Amino acid sequence: MCGIVGYVGRSEAAPILLDGLRRLEYRGYDSAGVAIVDGDHIETRKCAGRIAELGKLMAAKPPTGTYGISHTRWATHGKPTDQNAHPHFDASGKLALVHNGVIENYQALKDQLILDGDRNFSSETDTEVLAHLIGKLYDASASEAPAASNGNAAATLPNKKGRLVDAVRAALRQVIGTYGIALVHSDIPDFIVGARRGSPLVLGVGKDENFLASDVSAIVAHTRDAVYLNDFDVVAVERDKFEISSVAGEAGNYQLSKVEFTDADIKKGDYPHYMLKEIFEQPGSVRDAMRGRLSPEECTAKLGGLNMTPAQLRDVGRIVLTGCGTALHAGMIGEYLIEQLAQIPTEVEYASEFRHRNTPMTRDTLVFAISQSGETADTLGALRESRRKGYRTLGICNNVASTIARESDGGVYMHAGPEIGVAATKSFTSQVAILTTIGLLLGRMRHLSTSEGTRIIDALEALPAQIEEVLKLSDQIKAIAKKYASVPGMLFFGRQFNFPVALEAALKLKEITYLFAEGHPSAELKHGIIALVRPDLPSVFIAPDDAVFSKNVNNIEQVRARKGPVIAITSGKGAKHLAKIADDIVTIPNVPDYVSPILTVIPLQLLAYHLAVELGRDVDKPRNLAKSVTVE
Ligand code: GLU
Repeated sequence: MCGIVGYVGRSEAAPILLDGLRRLEYRGYDSAGVAIVDGDHIETRKCAGRIAELGKLMAAKPPTGTYGISHTRWATHGKPTDQNAHPHFDASGKLALVHNGVIENYQALKDQLILDGDRNFSSETDTEVLAHLIGKLYDASASEAPAASNGNAAATLPNKKGRLVDAVRAALRQVIGTYGIALVHSDIPDFIVGARRGSPLVLGVGKDENFLASDVSAIVAHTRDAVYLNDFDVVAVERDKFEISSVAGEAGNYQLSKVEFTDADIKKGDYPHYMLKEIFEQPGSVRDAMRGRLSPEECTAKLGGLNMTPAQLRDVGRIVLTGCGTALHAGMIGEYLIEQLAQIPTEVEYASEFRHRNTPMTRDTLVFAISQSGETADTLGALRESRRKGYRTLGICNNVASTIARESDGGVYMHAGPEIGVAATKSFTSQVAILTTIGLLLGRMRHLSTSEGTRIIDALEALPAQIEEVLKLSDQIKAIAKKYASVPGMLFFGRQFNFPVALEAALKLKEITYLFAEGHPSAELKHGIIALVRPDLPSVFIAPDDAVFSKNVNNIEQVRARKGPVIAITSGKGAKHLAKIADDIVTIPNVPDYVSPILTVIPLQLLAYHLAVELGRDVDKPRNLAKSVTVE
């Protein structure tokens, strides 16, 4: 969530920073700004609104200089105004800072700064307090002994640089909260400092130029050599070198990684929106989630990344799946899958709840943290709490080298490619596909026979072609979206594996159309929700031709009896039956129940998409939302 880009090199910084911000815009977009050092002063442009607005400001008066920092904000403290947009300055006006995250104790720090005589705050943000604090410590250190005599890691940096790094450390030691930061000081040429705790920060290593970014997608057009910083790392970046140390002052270790994807992977291509592109990528992304992980010979799945021996896997007595939003819904399907295929008691926990409560755990509990970005703050918090208590904790992430991937005991990568649309689509189907392979693997170690294993593998392998079939229905779904474009909201219902799909469909609709939507198990209708049914509020039933089809039909009849319009997603023999009683039906391939969510969710992603376009919504950047929620 929210983006940082920093550059130091020989090229003009402005176009590089602006281009990087555009690529990060999906992570936060209520205001944006840049600070570029031009000789002895800092040129700042910042404003509320989208990156396009900042682009106009910069075009009107281009800032020049070969190093600088920039930010796209997702406000946590203070309204999204010009004044609150980052960068923020210290009291001297020489230090500019951008920040992702939340300084929880900003008020106490601010009170102390004010007591010390610093009253010159110009924003409502927590970030500005940090800029003032670092600036104050830096200025105070001018009269102290040089950093080289402190015997710490900054000792190799010349005086001003070392003092600035020391000031950053000293300030961050006082901070409670989360941060990814980048800062420049106009007295120190060609020098950027970055640090992180809780919010991601990556160093991009180029030739005679270096980059800082909260996400590699911002800099992959320039370099694919990256250092993913760890919590409490402080990095001093120059054109031709960098130095990593810790907030405590120790020298840091780092590893240079190659970014997996290229710039071409994060382009929209011919699609009008990233979301549509990503919906249409699902035949490939689901295939990639399973690639090399199915073993038809042994009728099971192979998941070496779990880092567990067969004996350890067989000893798992309970599973906790944790995540937020779409990942949580994938986890809910995972619960059905693992319990059905492997008969292991499985719980799904909201990461934000799990991390703060004392969930009873057995010794043999295995925890999965599910997060596309691998940076979701609450899921990361849940993972850390679970590991702190000594439980084996695995990640299911898309971003290789993300914090969750690095801090877990093992896991499964989605390999879905970058997901830019704020509304998650392909990551959901990849997560469900992976959870199916986990169910298969654990099931085959218990009671599942070879023939059952083969049946599951066949069903999984057939999915990419079946997804292609479902995608062909996009125009039909667009027509349905047009027909219902003026509805006040929608209700979604499903049973068994498709109950979480109803939740996910409602979430998609809310996220990108801003319409009211709810998802429920179909049978809950009569326990209250039926009171909402009326002629202008459609109910969408996910009712494939499965063991609970006739039960869904009962619920559809209950809605019809109260004049509620019904849209049905169905399959097989269901189509003929529902054609008579539903207002609109979408027929998808008939598949075994445990893989059906991967198909049933796709028409619902398309329904939300087409409805949002029909309503003129900003599909890829829905209001108030941002991708990858790295704040709590
Ligand atoms: N807490 C800071 C603010 O509200 C940073 C938010 C962000 O991560 O964009 O300005």
